[in-house]
Amino acid sequence: MDLRAFEAWSKRIASWSRAYLETLRDRPVRSRSEPGDVLRALPATPPDQAEAFETIFDDFEALIPDAMTHWQHPRFFAYFPANAAPASMLAEQLANTMAAQCMLWQTSPAAAEMETRMVDWLRQGLGLPETFQGTIHDTATTATLAAILTMRERALGWAGNSQGLSGLGRLRVYASAQTHSSIDKDIRLSGIGLDNLVKIPAKEESGAFYGMDTDALRRAIREDRARGYLPAGIVVCVGGTSIGAIDPVAQVLEIAQEEGLYSHVDAAWAGSAMICEEFRDLWHGVEAADSIVFNPHKWLGAQFDCSVQFLREPAEQIRTLAERPAYLETLEAGGDMSARIDYSEWTLPLGRRFRALKLWFLMRAYGLDGLRQRIRNHVTWAQEAAQMIQADQNLQIVTPCVLSLFSFRHTSGETATRGLLDRINADGRTYLTQTVHEGAFVIRFQIGSFDCTRDDVKTAVEAVIELARTECG
Ligand SMILES: *Cc1c(COP(=O)(O)O)cnc(C)c1O
Repeated sequence: MDLRAFEAWSKRIASWSRAYLETLRDRPVRSRSEPGDVLRALPATPPDQAEAFETIFDDFEALIPDAMTHWQHPRFFAYFPANAAPASMLAEQLANTMAAQCMLWQTSPAAAEMETRMVDWLRQGLGLPETFQGTIHDTATTATLAAILTMRERALGWAGNSQGLSGLGRLRVYASAQTHSSIDKDIRLSGIGLDNLVKIPAKEESGAFYGMDTDALRRAIREDRARGYLPAGIVVCVGGTSIGAIDPVAQVLEIAQEEGLYSHVDAAWAGSAMICEEFRDLWHGVEAADSIVFNPHKWLGAQFDCSVQFLREPAEQIRTLAERPAYLETLEAGGDMSARIDYSEWTLPLGRRFRALKLWFLMRAYGLDGLRQRIRNHVTWAQEAAQMIQADQNLQIVTPCVLSLFSFRHTSGETATRGLLDRINADGRTYLTQTVHEGAFVIRFQIGSFDCTRDDVKTAVEAVIELARTECG
């Protein structure tokens, strides 16, 4: 493709993008594609001859948008959001064009130094002390794996990295029953083994909201030590995915410190809300953590993927993860050596994208105040939505708003609740997803779509109420 054509197509794609984003409200939120539709439409074999870009683009338009679930739709209230504020999309376009492999400071000085500065801007935004530095990963799953590997190696005096785990004692990690499934996966991948992830019961009355029972946590650690096991760390939940569970952060971190355990806070979703001072009570005491992860790609508006991990002692994670072969060494010395950080030593993959650029664009284009206003609106509108649902005779709130997440059910029971969810998502005005809470099937309602309005929330709630009425028969 010659560069004139590249420019022309870039402009055409920019126009397409505007039209797409402008007309999202007219589309059903969840795709109506049936399994196999796209697969059947794609040729089974690759082209030998070059095709005209016009044809490629026509096929894109014909095949792709209708088979997408529209994550930027203003009435997307499923899962958690994966917001891409337009300013961050533009930054991604520039990063795509420069297409740098930002593994070392030398392979892209601007990316490394921008990462240092942006992580620190976010640290200040979230009200964390200067003792934290940090890095950017692709996702929270990966950031948490890095933390769990560091947890493992710190408990083993870094012997696991060289000797492997056999014969080094049975490691134990503690987390509430409300933590995200990525913790389970990371424990498996780390070689610690799922049997050694001790799930501490989370009760409504214990801790902030379905937080872990700290007496049970102390007891579990004591019993494990008595059995000769090796407690390594605690994963703390701030805003669980199911119903927004929150551990009593200060008490749990105090136990971690008393017991000499590594602590990792998973605030993948709720972390973004901490740019608003009034929500920081939810993670009161967090400054005592060793590691904290949150995803700017969820609520904050940074195009997926972008997961930030704050670290009290980066040296421990670097010691766990860094590889330094001769062919990656930076030979020239000089300049401000403290700015010359090779962030691939802080994270799992060697190769890295220039993710800090979209944070720079995002925070400058909206300002922290602009981002705060969105989050505050979402929290307020979620409370209004929960009130409207509670007031309807066919519906009942099951778990109250934690920030902008609540859950509800149909008063006629589980079958009606399942039927209602099917109807909501077939209807297309909004998209909601489910969870199981204390054995009961419930529908989650989560407001976090970057450009949603109060009217969008109202439209979605009205659709739910209308469809609940027809579910009564
Ligand atoms: C979304 C989420 C995760 C996983 O996030 P990824 O970035 O997709 O790996 C982990 N924990 C919580 C609480 C989440 O909400």
